[in-house]
Amino acid sequence: MYDVVIIGAGPAGMTAAVYTARKKLSTLLLSKDVGGQTLWTNDIENYMGYQFIEGAELVEKFEHQVRQFPIDVKIEEDVVGLASIEGGFEVRTAGGETYQAKTAIIASGKKPRSLGVPGEERLRGHGVTYCSTCDGPLFEGLKVAVIGGGNSAVEAVIDMLKIAEHVYMVSLTPLTCDRLLIDRVKENPNLTVYAEYATQEVLGDPSVTGIRIKDLKSGEEKILEVSGVFVEIGLIPNSDLAKELLKLNKLGEIEVSCSGETAVPGLFAAGDVTNVPEKQIVVAAGEGAKAALQAYRYLQKFG
Ligand SMILES: Cc1cc2nc3c(=O)[nH]c(=O)nc-3n(C[C@H](O)[C@H](O)[C@H](O)COP(=O)(O)OP(=O)(O)OC[C@H]3O[C@@H](n4cnc5c(N)ncnc54)[C@H](O)[C@@H]3O)c2cc1C
Repeated sequence: MYDVVIIGAGPAGMTAAVYTARKKLSTLLLSKDVGGQTLWTNDIENYMGYQFIEGAELVEKFEHQVRQFPIDVKIEEDVVGLASIEGGFEVRTAGGETYQAKTAIIASGKKPRSLGVPGEERLRGHGVTYCSTCDGPLFEGLKVAVIGGGNSAVEAVIDMLKIAEHVYMVSLTPLTCDRLLIDRVKENPNLTVYAEYATQEVLGDPSVTGIRIKDLKSGEEKILEVSGVFVEIGLIPNSDLAKELLKLNKLGEIEVSCSGETAVPGLFAAGDVTNVPEKQIVVAAGEGAKAALQAYRYLQKFG
């Protein structure tokens, strides 16, 4: 039985792991990937110590630091269950493995919200994508649609206008993004904005050839011929694994105390998966440190 199992190797989980390892706790770090959302970020200008750093480079530095400690790191592990057992917790992965630890820290972050329309799931990875930073270059010289009207959508539009032949921005509501951002691109002849249009279907077989959209005012439908669809309609917490043990708030977030404690003794959470305001790398890292130190104190008392 480990002292602590940490689920998620984003900024919160990796920071927590360094803190628990430095307290000499036997630490297991389980994650689908290394880096989380920071990998999807091109330019970071607000992580202290770096005037500017690319997300992938910051993740490399985090991972390098984690690897300096005797932390058991297991990547490509999808945690699907977390249960209370005598003296701690048992974690279950999609591959059927189980791991036990006296304490657990959930640092599983967020994932992109999906549209939930026909064709989306089938064409995921075949033209439907949720990350312009990661996949944008695949659509060089092609026509693409960005779905969404908020800041992440307009940022994807700005990125894709440098790469694609034409960008359609399709928003269910009037645009809600910062004016400053849309003003930078709204006169670009390679951009067409459809506000108050619902995306009805993603078309194509075996890869995307278009989307069907509907004008919410007139009810008129049209097909946009595109090779790529960037879904940029927000993020949802990866909190399913905690559902059996914890009550989530209405946003699906895990509620924690200011020390990262959940309602279950010995179970902690940190970063974007929690109700802590401001979803930022520096905040997630700080919360990871707090949860780790609280787990250490818990083990001193009850371990
Ligand atoms: C496009 C974009 C740009 C951003 N730009 C900035 C910026 O410039 N500055 C800034 O400060 N913040 C930025 N952010 C926000 C920042 O990236 C997040 O706040 C931060 O990454 C949250 O860290 P986290 O560790 O809580 O979660 P995440 O980064 O989401 O990491 C979660 C980890 O958990 C793993 N995981 C999830 N579910 C499971 C599971 N079931 N089993 C195992 N592992 C699992 C994931 O694989 C991942 O490794 C940006 C976010 C996005 C999307």
